Amino acid sequence: MTIIVKAPAKINLVLDATAKRPDGYHDVHMVMTTVDLADRLELTELPSGEIRMNAQHAYVPNDERNLAYKAAAILKEKYDVKTGVEIFLEKHIPVAAGLAGGSSDAAATLRGLNELWQLGLTLEELAEVGAAVGSDVPFCVMGGTAIATGRGEKLEKLVSPPPCWVVLAKPTIGVSTADVYGALDLNTAKRPNVEAMIDAVKAQDFQGICQSLGNVLESVTLPMHPEVEQIKEFMASCGAEGVLMSGSGPTVFALTEHENRAQRLYNGLRGFCNEVYVVRLLGENH
Ligand code: ATP
Repeated sequence: MTIIVKAPAKINLVLDATAKRPDGYHDVHMVMTTVDLADRLELTELPSGEIRMNAQHAYVPNDERNLAYKAAAILKEKYDVKTGVEIFLEKHIPVAAGLAGGSSDAAATLRGLNELWQLGLTLEELAEVGAAVGSDVPFCVMGGTAIATGRGEKLEKLVSPPPCWVVLAKPTIGVSTADVYGALDLNTAKRPNVEAMIDAVKAQDFQGICQSLGNVLESVTLPMHPEVEQIKEFMASCGAEGVLMSGSGPTVFALTEHENRAQRLYNGLRGFCNEVYVVRLLGENH
């Protein structure tokens, strides 16, 4: 039996880090939402009990380092599943981009295996397994829009923002999330107003959302990679209503309610980077 699952990317509308923890992670306070740029996974049952990974992408590992593989291994072990799985992964989300591509692949694997292996687990139970794979995995299991705290794994559901266009641009640099958090200085970094974003989303106030976009990690990534700032400036000059770097970067996103503006942004950005996407925010049910 084969099951096909979609793994959509996420963006952070607001991302703050509140403290460095003894375990080396940061406590975060953020709002994440799902966009309709997705990887595609095919999960095929293997009677041998083996887990096999086939990602066919130069920068994506095919062994236990792949987050989809890791998710399958943890789920199999925890629920003592005898059969295995072959995971065929078709990447569409840029890699090491700040869009949680790997985390979403892990989450999609958990959702798909729940069906393939007939485990009958709830999304909350799958999210708990996902937390052992990575901090963003529980959000990717739940989807929609949420406020995340802790390492990012503690979630509170939030209504999704009003529909709009999202233009994503990824410069050709790769950014390591661990390095960015490692270089973060909370005493000097510009901190976003998370509560203002939550209020704007609840009020479905698109302009308020655009004005409250903020990411504490820009204080690290922007000085390291001037092209990220240049893309932000270009997007703003094209009339984007809101502009922000997603996660630890380097992907930058622009929000606009106008399709023609999204198209203009896309055309203009193609001159800067070869990875540009026009997508939509996904609502509650993807
Ligand atoms: P986040 O926003 O959660 O920090 P990201 O979008 O910055 O994630 P990913 O694309 O998830 O980063 O991948 C970062 C690294 O993880 C890659 O360099 C890759 O080697 C490894 N990796 C492991 N599994 C995957 C996967 N399924 N897809 C992509 N990369 C993966």
